[in-house]
Amino acid sequence: MPYSTQPTASHFIDGQYVDDTAGDVIEVIYPATGKVIARVHAATPAIINQALTSAQRAQKEWAAMTGTQRGRVLRRAADIMRERNRDLSVLETWDTGKPLSETLYVDATSAADALEYFGGLAGSLTGEHIPLGNGDFVYTRREALGVCVGIGAWNYPTQIAAWKGAPALACGNAMVFKPSETTPLCALKVAEILHEAGLPAGCYNVIQGMGAVGAALVTDPRVAKVSLTGSVPTGRKVYAAAAAEMKHVTMELGGKSPLVIFDDADLESAVSGAVLANFYSSGQVCSNGTRVFVQRGIRKAFVARLIERLKTGVVLGDPMDEATNFGPMSNARQLEIVERYLRQGVAEGATLAHGGNRVGNEGFYIEPAVFTDVTDDMSIAREEIFGPVMSVLDFDTEEEALTRANATEFGLAAGVFTADLTRAHRMVAGFEAGTCYINTYNLAPVEAPFGGSKGSGVGRENSKLAINHYSEMKSVYVAMNPCEAPF
Ligand code: NAD
Repeated sequence: MPYSTQPTASHFIDGQYVDDTAGDVIEVIYPATGKVIARVHAATPAIINQALTSAQRAQKEWAAMTGTQRGRVLRRAADIMRERNRDLSVLETWDTGKPLSETLYVDATSAADALEYFGGLAGSLTGEHIPLGNGDFVYTRREALGVCVGIGAWNYPTQIAAWKGAPALACGNAMVFKPSETTPLCALKVAEILHEAGLPAGCYNVIQGMGAVGAALVTDPRVAKVSLTGSVPTGRKVYAAAAAEMKHVTMELGGKSPLVIFDDADLESAVSGAVLANFYSSGQVCSNGTRVFVQRGIRKAFVARLIERLKTGVVLGDPMDEATNFGPMSNARQLEIVERYLRQGVAEGATLAHGGNRVGNEGFYIEPAVFTDVTDDMSIAREEIFGPVMSVLDFDTEEEALTRANATEFGLAAGVFTADLTRAHRMVAGFEAGTCYINTYNLAPVEAPFGGSKGSGVGRENSKLAINHYSEMKSVYVAMNPCEAPF
């Protein structure tokens, strides 16, 4: 791979790169060319054991440090990430194919935000004092869970590694992180930078592998918590396996989120929202608002302006060229899935109003696609595609829009565009979704909780709430009076 600061081995364990060629080869394919740019090896049982043993040992030392000391390490790591943003963004682009014009602004920078935010909180994590009237009192201790496992999806490999690692480490846990087999490189750099910033060896380990390595981590008795970012079917399996041993979980899963655009919305702003909700990262964003409900009065103008902007604004091409704003799909399998849904949409009677053609003869490029005349029962309106395929659905009344928006097993995100403030707040109060937007879409600042309702997951990442998902309270009753018993 033509990159000077690439990771140097498959795994990062106990503070250093560890190679082990005994496991299955995982080829890293650059989505813009379809060519192999690196090879890593899946973790064998011995590597899994090495990572967990190291994490278990290191966690005790890490938890014994003060929160301020732990926070200092995280904040130092954030600074290093920002200094190396360009290199890390290039690596993110090699790993995912997302254009550099995106990765420079939302990947290492978002990871750095998480490290800085949770680094800042670490020193203020405390329990409370609860007076009981007779002199007795209870105090609570906020304690780390122990060894946490993070399992990542392939769309945001740097960000996911940090969004899980930062709150886990702030609370005094150690982590073993398994990236997606499709994008194994970026998490290794997160581990390297954390240790360069002073993290004790073993507190954040990265091991590679397919689902089986994830499954082995989830069921290991040394693991106290599992945080997964992935699809709903994988989430069901991982949640069930974790539940069997009563482990803590955070599940950040898929979605089929609604974006509701009312007649009175500002047209340009609503089109921008729909673009952000569907085509950023070539549509490979979990919270995407792919069911775009447009009120009948604005529908014609909306579709016309949307297609005009796609025709003139999309620059599809070499992801390393900063003029490019639309990259390839991240892998061949995802491209096949998108093509299958495009055929299915047409077969089920929707109108492919724009795009959807393969582009070039190398790499996994496909044009952004817009379907109109979509009805709620069609596969393209019910199932997560995870690609640049927007479905435009028409509606008449607010009540109808809300009912149809909520008629899904998913509940990750939802958005509304309207000039009527009271209606906007009524809509978000009614949405069955964990993350809602008014007159914008898909922003995920570290200060705000992020996560899904219904089938889209449990728990929240980011914000102060994430602390509750990486720590637990110990309640301590202190008697100030003689202990009495009935006999
Ligand atoms: P996936 O479910 O196929 O895989 C996710 C991860 O789970 C991978 O690392 C995989 O190796 C691992 N895995 C697979 N089977 C496992 C098992 N039995 N036990 C343990 N681990 C196992 O998902 P993907 O295709 O990598 O990513 C796309 C999906 O992720 C989409 O559904 C998308 O919506 C979702 N996603 C959600 C969020 C969020 O925050 N809610 C963010 C990004 C992506």
